[in-house]
Amino acid sequence: MASRRTFLKITGGALALLLGLGEVSKILPHKPLLRPPGGQDETSFISRCLRCDRCRSVCPTSVIGLANLSDSIMDARTPVMKFHLGYCNFCHKCVEVCPTQALKPFDSKIVRIGLATVKKDICMAWDFGGCTVCLNACPYHAIALDGQGRPLVDPHKCNGCGICEKVCPALVMRSYIGGNVRGIVVTPIAAGRDGGL
Ligand code: SF4
Ligand code: SF4
Ligand code: SF4
Repeated sequence: MASRRTFLKITGGALALLLGLGEVSKILPHKPLLRPPGGQDETSFISRCLRCDRCRSVCPTSVIGLANLSDSIMDARTPVMKFHLGYCNFCHKCVEVCPTQALKPFDSKIVRIGLATVKKDICMAWDFGGCTVCLNACPYHAIALDGQGRPLVDPHKCNGCGICEKVCPALVMRSYIGGNVRGIVVTPIAAGRDGGL
C-alpha cells in the first residue's frame, strides 16, 4: 500500500511539474522549434511530453532528434525535426507511441510541421543555375521555378515535410568554402517566414 502511495506521489509530482512547464513556457522567452507532426501546439506539447524518446525510437526515417540545453532548459531532450537526418512521411507512428498525446492525432492533408524557405545566397540555382534537385523531390508540388530557373516555395502547398532540405546538395557543393547551411531550410511557421516568394 505504501509503495502504491509513493508511486502516486511521484507520478502526481511529475505531472504537476510538466503542467507547470507548460505555464512557464508561456512566460519565458522560447524560440519556436520544429516538432513532429501533431506537436505544433507548443504549450500543450511542452506540458505533456515526458522526454521518453519513444517517438524518436519508432520513426522509420530517423528524422526525429533531440533538442538540447542551448535551445532552452524546458526544451532539453524534447523531440525536434532534424531534416539533415531524414524527412517526414506523415506515417503517424510517432503519434501512436506517444503515451501522453503530446503528439496529437493529425490529418495528413492539412497538418503543417513548418515552411521551407529558399536561402538565395546558398542555393546553387540562385547563384549560377542548373539545380532542380528540390523541385524534383517535393512530393507536394510546392516548389516551382521562376523565369530564370530558380526555385520558389509556395507557402500554401508546403507542409514542411523536409525532404527538400534533406536532398539539397548545396551544403556538400559549397563545403570547400566553409558553408554549413543547405539551400532550402524548413523553419517553424511561428517564425514567420515568407517561403522565399
Ligand atoms: S509521422 Fe512518421 S516519419 Fe513523421 S516524424 Fe512521425 S514517425 Fe517520423
Ligand atoms: S536543391 Fe538546393 S541548391 Fe538545388 S535548387 Fe534546390 S535549394 Fe537550390
Ligand atoms: S518541405 Fe520542401 S519538399 Fe516538403 S512540401 Fe515543403 S517544399 Fe515540398
